[in-house]
Amino acid sequence: MIPGGKKIQNAGNFEIYLITDYQDQDIRHFALADALVLDWQQPDHATALLKEIRASFIESIYLLPVFIFNADGVVSDTPKSLSDGELSVVQEEPIGKMIRQVKKRREDFTPHETNSSENRILTKLFRYMYTRDKTLNPEVDVHAHMGYEYPLIRLHYPAGESMEMLKILRRGTENDFFQGIFVDKTHVCPNCHSGHLNLREVCTKCASAHISSENLIHHFVCAYMGPEGDFVTKQGLVCPKCNRQLRHIGVDYDKPSVIYRCHDCRHEFQEPDITALCLNCKTVTPVEKLLEITLDKYSLTDLGRDAARTGIKVAGEEREFTIPGFVNFSTFLTFLRFEIERVKVSGKESQMGSVSLNLPARLRSNRQQFERLVLDISDFIRNNTDSSDILSFANDNTFFMIFPEKGATAVEKILNDFRSSIEKLLSNTFEDEPEWNLAAQYETLNAETEYNALINQVKTI
Ligand SMILES: [Zn+2]
Ligand SMILES: [Zn+2]
Ligand SMILES: [Zn+2]
Repeated sequence: MIPGGKKIQNAGNFEIYLITDYQDQDIRHFALADALVLDWQQPDHATALLKEIRASFIESIYLLPVFIFNADGVVSDTPKSLSDGELSVVQEEPIGKMIRQVKKRREDFTPHETNSSENRILTKLFRYMYTRDKTLNPEVDVHAHMGYEYPLIRLHYPAGESMEMLKILRRGTENDFFQGIFVDKTHVCPNCHSGHLNLREVCTKCASAHISSENLIHHFVCAYMGPEGDFVTKQGLVCPKCNRQLRHIGVDYDKPSVIYRCHDCRHEFQEPDITALCLNCKTVTPVEKLLEITLDKYSLTDLGRDAARTGIKVAGEEREFTIPGFVNFSTFLTFLRFEIERVKVSGKESQMGSVSLNLPARLRSNRQQFERLVLDISDFIRNNTDSSDILSFANDNTFFMIFPEKGATAVEKILNDFRSSIEKLLSNTFEDEPEWNLAAQYETLNAETEYNALINQVKTI
């Protein structure tokens, strides 16, 4: 049963739920559903929930068939492309068909663990495309930083990281996982990569946009050439030089070009400059200096379909990141399960803590520097915990710890110490980069702790 959801009876006996109530929805409940139908009466809430589902890294959640139930009204491109289709009446047939297809394709998948967040995102993308036979298309979206979105992958990159997002797609193409087909080009601000630009013609001397243009008139008879305004009289167009009336364009006179005048500096010129004002960061850039972005549509190659089944294996990147004194994540999860069983029996309490380094992808791109940083932090954590504490590092961003029977107060103090020390380390490492943050938290493990709920929570960090 899903709170706020109504089960739809169906011949296939699938767990299909119609969601009409968006208050307090928790996507973890959806892991048990076969498909969802989102009532589009509240488009903002429905879109937010759909994005949350597709942003998950839990396979049974992000691969869930989700339909949009929309009797009237328009669904915008982004939610449409994140869904498995629009229904004007709730029909069983397309939903059942998608459920069966996704289930069947998922049988091909082997479990995949990776330390690289890029590989994790790509594998997820491949699996989504593989189960749906979908291509990844650029969608126009006025709310998107670039004006265009690749909806599924965009969920993993904040606005300022559109270039990182494009880089990962390019990497997928270079490794022959994707085939890219040209769709369009766009131009973005070279400073902040926003696509929201105000393009305007400006004065070649003072760059003011306060300019206007006027036709130039060439009087053949006397060879005089001047702005049209000089020829205008009550009697029509009259040449200011020879005083003759102008009669037929093309016969006795012509308008060979236009002349621009700046109302600020009075400069006159024939070709204005064109500059782009970025509506996001206010940088002004000559149009020829804007960053050109090619927008391709991506489809999976045979190699890409292989990678969907087994996960990405790229030489060099897949090696286990071993940290002395730290266990790998699956071992950590085993310890966690034992610890929960143990406190259930003993009636005592333990804590599980985590410290997440939320670094923008560009700060992780120097792999050597990043690994040294992680090792420094690991050393620090190891030196300030007991030998009975269990330590792990996962997802390329989070340190996990089990503190057996240490007590909430002590754990809180430890985590605070970790946070302030790691903050210092990060400030020193990335001097002029303010765009990282740290999240430290802990959970108490006691008789009420449910392993599955905790794991889902842990895995979504
Ligand atoms: Zn900008
Ligand atoms: Zn000017
Ligand atoms: Zn004349």
